[in-house]
Amino acid sequence: MILALAGGVGGARLANGLAHVLPAGELTVAVNVGDDFTHLGLPICPDIDTVTYTLAGRNNRELGWGVSGESWAFMDELKALGGPDWFNLGDRDLAKHALRGEWQRQGWTLSQVTAELARRQGIPHAIVPMSDDPVRSMVLTDEGELPFQDYFVRRRCEPRFVSIRYAGAEQAKISPGLAEALADPALEAVVVCPSNPVLSIGPFLAVTDIAAALRARRVPCVAVSPFIGGEAVKGPAAKIMRELGEEPGAASLVGHYAGIVDAVLCDHADPAAGQTLGGIAFHAADTLMRDDADQQRLAHEALALARGLA
Ligand code: GDP
Ligand code: CA
Repeated sequence: MILALAGGVGGARLANGLAHVLPAGELTVAVNVGDDFTHLGLPICPDIDTVTYTLAGRNNRELGWGVSGESWAFMDELKALGGPDWFNLGDRDLAKHALRGEWQRQGWTLSQVTAELARRQGIPHAIVPMSDDPVRSMVLTDEGELPFQDYFVRRRCEPRFVSIRYAGAEQAKISPGLAEALADPALEAVVVCPSNPVLSIGPFLAVTDIAAALRARRVPCVAVSPFIGGEAVKGPAAKIMRELGEEPGAASLVGHYAGIVDAVLCDHADPAAGQTLGGIAFHAADTLMRDDADQQRLAHEALALARGLA
């Protein structure tokens, strides 16, 4: 059994590699919920959906997010009627958001909804939210505090990042699926995917019992750095690091993952490669995932690194 912690795109890429190299049922992907919000009455879970579509082989490769074969009649009509058009909801995506809302009104937990949507899309592994309770990333910027989607989508990460607060994290509990995976005697390793350390992995670590369970783990935990050549492959991770006064690179992970992660795979050109910093050993690898073959190769390398530490 392998447990992966993931945000959206970077998380989904490595999780998809792991899903293909591991036998069916031997992977649990625990996913960030800090980006979740309610829009037009619909519960939106961007990272869970990115991971689910990717593991189902249904992710939209042209857009880089959402589901393949998407159409936009709903958005066209919404715009024509003067509705809010800053957040895109595709027609196919909408069906899933509506179903999630319906099931939640019937009393299903987010874990139950997520498992059922993954099952109906043919995914042979477990996808679980990090928590069934709301944890909401709130970004303090030079323009004031913005709920995550306002910062990320509406304002395109333009305001300067000052700090983040994960509203609800103190009261939130670890999800049953994540707790079970961490307690499973068959668990071999934890893999922290190359997700944004602040926006995607930060919410996990802000939940007391998730951080405690990760610190108390009896198996190796390895991470893959999301930084290549001092930049993020996609998204605002490097910009945020710079605005926090940190150099975007694998070494910046020490401040976020010390005590949680034993080893990191980072790019060959990363200054941290070959060093041990803050108790974390940094190993060089080709960490760019251009295609499915790269995802699987990096998944193998992460598993080999973890098994070597066991
Ligand atoms: P988000 O929720 O969509 O922002 O997804 P994540 O937080 O899971 O992933 C964002 C991070 O993925 C960014 O910081 C990227 O640098 C990283 N990323 C995306 N593709 C790759 C890749 O091929 N290799 C590595 N190492 N990181 C990647
Ligand atoms: Ca995300």
